[in-house]
Amino acid sequence: VFDMLVVGGGPAGAAAAIYSARKGLVTGIVADKFGGQVAETVGIENFISVSKTEGPKLVANLEAHVKDYDVDIMQNQRALSLAKNGLFDVTLESGATLSSKTIILATGARWREMNVPGEQEYRNKGVAYCPHCDGPLFKGKRVAVIGGGNSGIEAAIDLANIVEHVTVLEFDSKLRADEVLQRKAKSMGNITIITQAMTTEVKGDGTRVTSLIYTDRATGESNTVTLAGIFVQIGLVPNTEWLKGVVDMTPRGEIIVDERGQTSIPGVFAAGDVTNTPYKQIIIAMGSGATASLGAFDYLIRHSEE
Ligand code: FAD
Repeated sequence: VFDMLVVGGGPAGAAAAIYSARKGLVTGIVADKFGGQVAETVGIENFISVSKTEGPKLVANLEAHVKDYDVDIMQNQRALSLAKNGLFDVTLESGATLSSKTIILATGARWREMNVPGEQEYRNKGVAYCPHCDGPLFKGKRVAVIGGGNSGIEAAIDLANIVEHVTVLEFDSKLRADEVLQRKAKSMGNITIITQAMTTEVKGDGTRVTSLIYTDRATGESNTVTLAGIFVQIGLVPNTEWLKGVVDMTPRGEIIVDERGQTSIPGVFAAGDVTNTPYKQIIIAMGSGATASLGAFDYLIRHSEE
């Protein structure tokens, strides 16, 4: 039986496990893929105090730091359900069940993809998902933002201050972003907004993105936009399908947490991109992992009868 079982091995889960082990608690991490989204990242330049690192290197550092402590790491294991039977039981895809006094949910999120030819090939070679992370790499260049919701228009405004020009492509006939964001975007001289645009292909020269092709849904015409970068902003999907009906979530499926990281179930905490935190970043995920772990520790010292 664990005192604290962390589900998810990204930055949030790793931070939670280290804080737990340092309290002398019996700690486990169960993760589908240790490292999470960081494993898919190339350059990281906003992890404060480290000027520049790479995803796989940061993952190796995370793993080494966790292994400094007595943490039971169970990799390549997917959690399928969570139930309370006195203790909390997490059932894995393998059929095994893990029991723990407290749970930290840190299963992260995934960016919704366009699913068009060239997107995978040019991922990290011009196709990007995070303007806070990769915006500065396109300084002085032309980029597109796919998606005209709040995150797309926020990204366009953010990028317009760095890059030469931003083309926003929205599938629908109108933008879905808040009016105030639309006004701001339209007031900037270097943002062009195209609606009824269905992106059909990402083109490149083998090493970098060079253009994208979209169909004008009104006329059926195919058009080319020459550019160096494409920011896909059509949604970040939390990995909470397995928790539906178990903990309270926002309509978008993000786990709702309080300031201590506690969910709607006392003893079950959550951290990182899987929660309703408004900003999804490595440094924020780590901070919230520490918060959730300390929250769970507080819960344990108040609820374990010994
Ligand atoms: P994740 O990193 O998503 O980790 C989730 C963990 O849960 C993984 O171990 C996963 O395998 C596991 N998991 C999921 N479902 C289950 C399940 N059912 N059972 C068991 N385990 C499960 N942020 C920055 O700060 N700087 C950057 O430069 C940067 N660049 C990025 C580039 C890319 C391409 C991407 C995709 C993201 C980038 N981000 C960046 C965002 C950053 O990676 C995330 O904010 C951060 O990784 C979130 O951490 P997390 O621990 O909450 O979740």
